[in-house]
Amino acid sequence: MKRILIGLALIITLTIISEAQSYETQFSKPLGKVLQEIGTRFNVSLKFEVDTTGKVIPFADFRIRPYSLEESLTNVLALFDYKFVKQDEKTYKIKGYEYPRRIADDGKKMLTYLNTLYKDSLEWNVRKACLRKEVREKLQIDSILKKRVNSKPILSEIRKYDGYTVQNFAIETLPGLYVCGSIYNPLSKGKHGVILCPNGHWTDGRYNSDEQNRFATLARMGATCVSYDLFGWGESELQVSYTAHRTSVAHIIQIMNGLTILDYMLTRKDIDASKVAANGGSGGGSQVVLLSVLDDRFTAACPTVSLASHFDGGCPCESGMPVSLACGGTNNAELMATFAPKPVCVISEGKDWTASVPELEYPYLQRIYGFYNAGKNVSNVHLPTEGHDFGPNKRNAVYNFFISTFGLNANLPDESKVIVEPKEAMLSFGVNGEKMPANAICDFKTVEKYFNKKADAKINSDIDAEKRAQTWTDSLKLNDKDKEARVKSVIIKHIKAVRDWNNEHSYSLVPDGINPLTGNQLSNLDREVIINSTKPKSVHEALMTGLRKDLTEDQVEKVLDFYTVGKVAFTMKGYHAIVPDLTSEEEATILGFLKEAREMAVDYKSMKQISAIFEIYKTKSEQFLNANGRNWKIMYKTYTDMLKAKKAEAAKAVK
Ligand code: ZN
Repeated sequence: MKRILIGLALIITLTIISEAQSYETQFSKPLGKVLQEIGTRFNVSLKFEVDTTGKVIPFADFRIRPYSLEESLTNVLALFDYKFVKQDEKTYKIKGYEYPRRIADDGKKMLTYLNTLYKDSLEWNVRKACLRKEVREKLQIDSILKKRVNSKPILSEIRKYDGYTVQNFAIETLPGLYVCGSIYNPLSKGKHGVILCPNGHWTDGRYNSDEQNRFATLARMGATCVSYDLFGWGESELQVSYTAHRTSVAHIIQIMNGLTILDYMLTRKDIDASKVAANGGSGGGSQVVLLSVLDDRFTAACPTVSLASHFDGGCPCESGMPVSLACGGTNNAELMATFAPKPVCVISEGKDWTASVPELEYPYLQRIYGFYNAGKNVSNVHLPTEGHDFGPNKRNAVYNFFISTFGLNANLPDESKVIVEPKEAMLSFGVNGEKMPANAICDFKTVEKYFNKKADAKINSDIDAEKRAQTWTDSLKLNDKDKEARVKSVIIKHIKAVRDWNNEHSYSLVPDGINPLTGNQLSNLDREVIINSTKPKSVHEALMTGLRKDLTEDQVEKVLDFYTVGKVAFTMKGYHAIVPDLTSEEEATILGFLKEAREMAVDYKSMKQISAIFEIYKTKSEQFLNANGRNWKIMYKTYTDMLKAKKAEAAKAVK
């Protein structure tokens, strides 16, 4: 009775809700018109990066808040997953949702949250270990690093200038794929620290004069600087187009390039391996952060006009892989903090997203460096009146940082001595690529083949295994954390072992042949079942012994039922329906068969395979009923005839 009442209450509630939403008018208006009216009402101009054509907003004017432009915009735009970005007091840009780009207020909330996760170096170290592990996984860097070749770099003639030299290089990374750049070397003898300078998305890339001035000056001051192209930019464009740059693959390749260049540089006798830094601006700064997380060999880092807690970098080469999802959610400020206590200098300015650094990211970094009593090792040079570039003041900040960290010569930051070279001089492969090696790949499709999507599938499947094991264990209500953990781990191991065996043993390993019982050709499903039945017995035994160690027999059965989606009970119900006078002795025998089926079926991956195992035992059950004086065929026909008759009756009633 109670259930009926609840049902009735639910129906009444649903009716009220549906009535509430079915006024005769929805007060709809075209989105474009509503936004235009908001602009007029609040006296601001709206710039559009989205197409509002054909988009209609219901209850339009009711969403306007006369006291707040931004609340009105939020109410209207949220419906379409659009957002606004304030450009100045009188101008707002309407944009689509962007996952890497948030607002400073989000950054503040995120840093406040992150700060609650660690209160000292012990807790921070746990978090750091997680970040360093999961960033690698999210970036999928390790599988690609393993695919690299180790061929000799192609080096150009050395060009000699006042206090420094320049030499171009091309290093083969993946077979047939090259990263090109230039090495700026001090003229002074002996070993020098090395500064990796990944390029940002600047006009003319690494060839522009801001960039050349910085590399050459740092070399004159005593450090070896390595500047190199973005993927799909500069000479890389001879191999893949700019379109390839705008992919998540670029994110992985650029980091692979940086690590490969570092490998090469550290084989050279003129490099001091105790002084290894990364410095880059904008998109190059995003690379600095990632390189510093991924490789312990870096000893100093200087991300320039890039680091923020609310912006991961707007190009797929910076945020194409879901790095910011590591360890439940992170951002570039926290990733940079994993570098503590090693020296880092963050260069920021007032006219881009780094405007928040003095208030948000720098104090956050100081706190983490404080865990190591190394506050002096983190610095921020903020240029409030400057914009997004690598201009002279930012370069001076870089020079000063390396004077203090690498002991560079403080008397030599004199850019007037630098010769800005023409782009042609800086190329390894010639203006038209005439010097490209014979094995060079010249299309993105060939490059993409190295990025195995299976790895991604495996991560998702691991997550799925984890989830299933968690849900099943939870439903046992064990009230014992250790027990739960053991049971969960036994199940996860088993699910993964079954999956891996299945994935690594294709049905094609079983010869095409006939089923000796029926004489029929083996189907692909038959062959799948056969190959899966050859997996080591230990897989099954580990599951059963593991479960029985902590669970009662009833609980073990419950887990097996989860694996087989309750097929034992469901099939048994079917037998009761088809054989209404089933004796308790018959029931016991059939139940025994079905439980055997269940225990066997848990070692199969797909539902089709699991059903195929149950079919074997259903046939056994039906043969048993026949041997017990019944006629399965007739009973089954009677049952299906009865169902058909009922259906016909119901159809008649509807008419
Ligand atoms: Zn990019």
